[in-house]
Formats: sequence, C-alpha cells, structure tokens
Amino acid sequence: MAHEINPGSVDETGAHGSSLLVSYSSVTFGKLGANINAAGFPRAAKGGNLRIPEGMARHVKTEIQMNSNVVGIVNGKDYAEVFLDDGRSLKGKRVIVTVPFSALRLMKLDAPIHPLQSEAINTLGYAIATHLSFVPKRKFWELDGLAPSMWTDGPAGRVTPLRNNPKDPNEITTFWVLCAGANARYIDRMTQEEGTKYILDYLARIRPSTKGALELVKFWSWQQDRFGCGTWASWHPGQPTKFGNEMRLPAGRIHFAGEHTSLYSRGMEGAMESGERAAFEAAGSL
Ligand SMILES: Cc1cc2nc3c(=O)[nH]c(=O)nc-3n(C[C@H](O)[C@H](O)[C@H](O)COP(=O)(O)OP(=O)(O)OC[C@H]3O[C@@H](n4cnc5c(N)ncnc54)[C@H](O)[C@@H]3O)c2cc1C
Repeated sequence: MAHEINPGSVDETGAHGSSLLVSYSSVTFGKLGANINAAGFPRAAKGGNLRIPEGMARHVKTEIQMNSNVVGIVNGKDYAEVFLDDGRSLKGKRVIVTVPFSALRLMKLDAPIHPLQSEAINTLGYAIATHLSFVPKRKFWELDGLAPSMWTDGPAGRVTPLRNNPKDPNEITTFWVLCAGANARYIDRMTQEEGTKYILDYLARIRPSTKGALELVKFWSWQQDRFGCGTWASWHPGQPTKFGNEMRLPAGRIHFAGEHTSLYSRGMEGAMESGERAAFEAAGSL
C-alpha cells in the first residue's frame, strides 16, 4: 500500500495556521478579476512573466548587481549600507528592501525597527510548496475524456495545465503539480527521482491515463531555497490585526516593499503595488 500523508494532518502552513481575513482578501482580489484575461485564463506577459522584470531592468540607469547575497543592512546617519557575503558593501541615501521576511530573517538588520515590525519580520507565516513541472508526452485527457486539470486530496495537490504557446493559446504546454504543506515537507525528504516517482505513481493510480504520459522538466522546493524560504506570505491567524499596519513602516533610511507588504493586491500585483509605494516614499524623503 502506498504511503500518503493523512489529509487531516495539522501543518502550521495549512488551513489551521492561516488567517481567514487574508484568505478572504485574496479571494476578493481574485474576484475583481485583475489577474484574469478575457479568455478566463491567468494573465501573463508575452513570452513569459520574466519579461516584466527584464523590461524594468533595462530602464535602470546604474548597473544591477546580480548573484549578490546580502547578509546585512545598516541604517547610518548619512546613508544606509548593504553588506554582501563576498565582503563588498554598497551605500545609498535610501535602501528599499524587497526580500520576503522569511529571507530577511536570515540577515542582520541594524535599524530603528518598530517592535511590531520586528515581530512581523521574525514570525510572518509563509506557505510552503514543492512544485514539479511536467511536459505531456500525449494528450491523456483526450484518452479518458476528463478535464486536464485536477485538484486532488492526495500528495499531488493541484495539477494545473499551463498554456504557454503564444502561437496557440489553447495548447497545453506543461502541467504544474503543486504539493503543498505536509505533502511538500514529505516529498522534500526524498531525492528528486524518488519524489517524482512518488507523484507519478500516485497520479497513475488515481488517473490511469497519465501513466507514462508525463515527463519531468523542473522539480523545485520553494522552502529549501534560502532566498525565498517559502512561497508567499501566508499570515497566521491574528497577524494582520497585530502588525498589519506597522510591518511596512520605513525604519530610518530603510524602506520595505514586496508582496507581503502590499495593502490591496496579492501576488505579483502586490509586489508592484508595494514597489510603487516604497519608491514614492523613498523619493519623497530625498
Ligand atoms: C509557486 C508559486 C506560484 C505563484 N503563482 C503566482 C500567480 O499565479 N500569480 C501571481 O500573481 N503570483 C504568483 N506567485 C507569487 C509571486 O511570485 C510573488 O508574489 C512575487 O514574485 C513576489 O515578488 P517580490 O518582489 O515581493 O518577491 P520575490 O519575487 O520573492 O523577490 C525577492 C527577491 O529577493 C531575492 N533575495 C532573497 N534573499 C536575498 C539575499 N540574501 N540577497 C540578495 N537577494 C535576495 C530573491 O532571490 C528574490 O529574487 C507565485 C509564487 C510561487 C512561489
């Protein structure tokens, strides 16, 4: 018998540990339809969403330092200073910190942080997920006549068909399997090969037409990536009312942005909303 996580198992990143207020806000944001196109599919930039930051980067006048691991940020009297793990440091009149709080926790931060903001940095919840992307080798959904997408109550969690062929927006190019919460923790303890086999065996069991029809192209554990340490902010019950207002306050010359600090929008729109707010904050104080 194949082992499976008990669906009722309590995980602090699941429903038991999530703020209903924030879930409601996400659902409301989704209902506004800001992220859905006319055909009912999630909006995406032409050529993939990576084109958005790449386009922004082209307008930045100074050189962007890639692959630079920030280990500390200090608020000084006349400037703020960012320290990198290779010994370099960068100075600026203002610094906008956009890393998730789950990653900020791993840095040294020397700034006049509000006590509730400090609590937010140290305790804000983050959802965890390990995702597997598969290319379909045959159209298994046409074989069994069922919908291509699945929302399972087993280890595969959500199985979402993605349509990323600009020439044919209806073509299913990949399947995105999102193992979340306790299932993600379980699969993280396996090797990539074991985890992939575990998921494919499960899918073949619940939907025989998938057997041999999916080829892995990407396996990624978001919580094991030290620059993310999770997927997105998943507030614990009570956190929005406790530090929702204080968590985005500037601390001296340091400003905070990133989806976790947005007020109205979620996801990528939240990141952009907060980026604009922080940019105006910083520009206004120069
Ligand atoms: C699996 C998954 C699916 C998603 N699906 C959607 C979706 O369909 N729609 C949607 O709108 N949103 C979606 N999101 C959420 C969306 O990706 C995020 O909300 C958005 O990327 C947040 O942007 P951000 O700039 O706040 O943070 P990030 O994009 O996380 O950027 C933070 C950056 O900080 C860097 N960083 C971290 N630590 C350090 C360090 N020490 N030194 C230097 N750099 C560091 C990271 O490398 C990263 O580049 C999804 C997220 C995940 C994980």
